[in-house]
Amino acid sequence: MRVVAGQISHETNSFSPVSTGLEEFRARGYATGEEVTERFLGTRTPLGGFFSAGEEAKMEILPTVAASAVPSGIVCADAYQHLLQQLRTGIAAAGDIDGVLLALHGAMVVDGIADAEGDILRQVREWVGDDVPVVCTLDYHANVTDEMVQRADGLFGYNTYPHVDGFERGVEACEFLAAVLDGSVCPVRSVTRPPLAPPVVPARTGWGPMRELMERAFSWEERDGVIDVGAYGGFVYSDVRDAGLAFVATVDGDRELAAHITRDLAGRAWELREDFVADLLPPQEAVWRAMQACGRPVILADVADNTGGGAAGDGTELLRAMLELGAEEAAVIMIPDQEAVQRAFSAGVNGSFSGEVGGRIDGLSGDPVQVDGRVRLLSDGQFTHRGPMSTGLRSDLGRTAVVVCGGVEVMLTERRLQPLDPAVARSVGIEPVYRKMVAVKSAVHYRAAYEPLAEEIIEVDGPGLSSPNLDRFDFQNIRRPVFPLDSM
Ligand SMILES: [Zn+2]
Repeated sequence: MRVVAGQISHETNSFSPVSTGLEEFRARGYATGEEVTERFLGTRTPLGGFFSAGEEAKMEILPTVAASAVPSGIVCADAYQHLLQQLRTGIAAAGDIDGVLLALHGAMVVDGIADAEGDILRQVREWVGDDVPVVCTLDYHANVTDEMVQRADGLFGYNTYPHVDGFERGVEACEFLAAVLDGSVCPVRSVTRPPLAPPVVPARTGWGPMRELMERAFSWEERDGVIDVGAYGGFVYSDVRDAGLAFVATVDGDRELAAHITRDLAGRAWELREDFVADLLPPQEAVWRAMQACGRPVILADVADNTGGGAAGDGTELLRAMLELGAEEAAVIMIPDQEAVQRAFSAGVNGSFSGEVGGRIDGLSGDPVQVDGRVRLLSDGQFTHRGPMSTGLRSDLGRTAVVVCGGVEVMLTERRLQPLDPAVARSVGIEPVYRKMVAVKSAVHYRAAYEPLAEEIIEVDGPGLSSPNLDRFDFQNIRRPVFPLDSM
């Protein structure tokens, strides 16, 4: 069997003024043809799962394109058309094919196309015809639309947030494709979206309402004939009509049962709506509490300035609080700031550093902070993910510097990336376990690797485009009424 595989993935925060062009995809990850295999074979990612399960099922997996960019603002139409064309060329070059496997996100917004994944699936369906099954993986933060559910034969969303099951969902999608191809299942799907669009922080799957809903979805999966039940947290910051929670059931033949399952889950989600709340501390209070803690390290999660949610990541409020309060043995992981990196490289190792840091990219995560200190280390910013997420994937932060200012180490990078893996800090000689407090720009993903080593975690209420405080955003496109934007 010949199966083409590809990835076009972006989580779009429509409130970000930083538009996403081809350069942003090139900076994070853009590969075609055999480069896709080289980059993803053996990684704990959906594509890694396609390759692994494909080999197992004796499928020939034919890579087309794999492109993803760090979450940011709306994707430029020309970048999107370019990536789509790469996918089309790859599919055409593959000749006669039996199936298509795609690693999509589900919350990508393109200039002029609110439902980018629905558009991708619609076009792929047109290219390959109705007889070739098209199966995709989706992020847990997908805003699942009717178009997506109609066009794909199967959708396999991550069951975890932090997302530690990308590989498993890739495997599952591939095994499902094999079952469709050999005729052993005849899948039908249903989707239900309750009027519920919580922020991402209280929608992590190891806690609270989503833990219960995931468990309920898993228990439905044990029923005869049920192939998959997906519970999606959605991504409210995309501000598209269908943003928010969604439940998708894939069942062998029984349409009624599929609809019953998704209505059951949506009904329970609605009952739990008041539980989607985050408990946050202002930056000064958070740093003060970390200074008083007995054990170490205290992780200060800058949840509102989460690069992984489309915020700039160069927010300064935690750094400012650390400097003002005189925090010791503290580290800020990390602040992307090309000008500051250039200044550090000009000064050289042990050179003195004096200048403003952060607050430049979108100006929405706090003002620049004056840092007067010493350059401790310069690096090329290369590292490999070693934690439970994207394990084995190599990443590039661009030129990177560590500047020491009093008791605070500030990691400065050229590129934006969510520092969810302690490997980021360790790549510049900062071992989180030995620090009193570590600030990370991440909403939830850091928990996968940091929870086991943290003495305490404090979620911080700073400024930024992934703030759980939705009153700070001017929503334009999401359907109304929707909870918690509207009291219902
Ligand atoms: Zn996600």
